[in-house]
Amino acid sequence: MPPIELLPEKEFRSHAPGCWKDRGVAETDWNSAAWQLKNRITTLAQLEEHLVLSDAERAGVLLSGNKLAMAVTPHYFNLMDPVDPDCPIRRQVIPRIEETLDDPGEMIDPCGEDAHMPVPGLVHRYPDRVLFLVTDRCASYCRYCTRSRVVSGVGAQTLHLEHEAAFRYLEQHTEIRDVLLSGGDPLLLSDAKLEAILTRLRAIPHIEFLRIGSRIPVFLPQRITPELCAMLRKFHPLFLSIHTNHPRELTTEVREGLARLADAGIPLGNQSVLLRDVNDDPAVMKSLVHKLLMCRVRPYYLYQCDLIKGSSHLRASVSRGIEIIESLRGHTTGYAVPQFVIDAPGGGGKVPLNPDYILMKDEQRVLIRNYEGKVFEYPEASVALGTPRTLA
Ligand SMILES: *Cc1c(COP(=O)(O)O)cnc(C)c1O
Repeated sequence: MPPIELLPEKEFRSHAPGCWKDRGVAETDWNSAAWQLKNRITTLAQLEEHLVLSDAERAGVLLSGNKLAMAVTPHYFNLMDPVDPDCPIRRQVIPRIEETLDDPGEMIDPCGEDAHMPVPGLVHRYPDRVLFLVTDRCASYCRYCTRSRVVSGVGAQTLHLEHEAAFRYLEQHTEIRDVLLSGGDPLLLSDAKLEAILTRLRAIPHIEFLRIGSRIPVFLPQRITPELCAMLRKFHPLFLSIHTNHPRELTTEVREGLARLADAGIPLGNQSVLLRDVNDDPAVMKSLVHKLLMCRVRPYYLYQCDLIKGSSHLRASVSRGIEIIESLRGHTTGYAVPQFVIDAPGGGGKVPLNPDYILMKDEQRVLIRNYEGKVFEYPEASVALGTPRTLA
């Protein structure tokens, strides 16, 4: 089997036909979200029709059924290298035996969400905003999913999606001005269902800002129809955060879907998870953030991988993350640099991590360094204690 040609990273190309063997698929089928969902890869036999699996993958697939289901859309699957198990696309969605390793620091609910759910499906951790889990299903399942306990339908817990209870909570809590729809993947809901949720939220006067977190633009760009975009644009201000980890994910189809969303006036952000041998490399990350800007997507967060059970083989070090940020800041467009964060284990929320640019700071001055390592001094503003800042 010839290895698939790796793309020059600046190019937006679909890999179709990539590793997907069934060349008989009609273009109208391939371009249909319903066809993509119906033909997801969910079994070992299907995987082996298209790929040469490693022993670690084969064993991982056999053991994944009671932890987090395997499902991969043909679109995303088609980006895989058919022979290399270390392919960055394969590492994200094909289970491996390492998922069964017991790492003492790892948890079932690493961000302590269950403890911050006043009603099922609503995580209220920060004063003015909530995370609203509207579904427990995704188009494909990321092996490092922080919510694997509740998504995909095979894990230890079920998420009781009490939309009515959540709406009542939101109506009563006037301090909430920002609602983030997530799940599962909200864009897996039908247009009608999603529109009903957004309409209900928009009827609550204190809710100013709506956003959706979704990996559908990447896993299932066929779902980003003109109809969906026309519906979403009625609910502005509405932002959308996508989730890409590797430049190869930004194909022609994905870029076109993102263009439809951007043309509907939806500001787009990206959240990446730092993953070992996927994107823990400055060159890969630089290529990714540049492609994102070309798609009008602003890199928002780079997450240190949550301490979810069975993810140790995908975890890169915190130092690596800081190095990557340092390799970007100043060296490329400021808009291209995401904020590196750790979602604090147990439920402390997102904590920003930055390279140290302050070398020394006292009451008189700050010593700083720039991206090239050159040192500068900035005199601290001298405001003596008790001196009014403005003249009376
Ligand atoms: C990430 C997150 C948010 C949103 O955080 P921002 O920093 O505002 O993007 C809100 N609630 C919860 C529980 C979250 O995990």
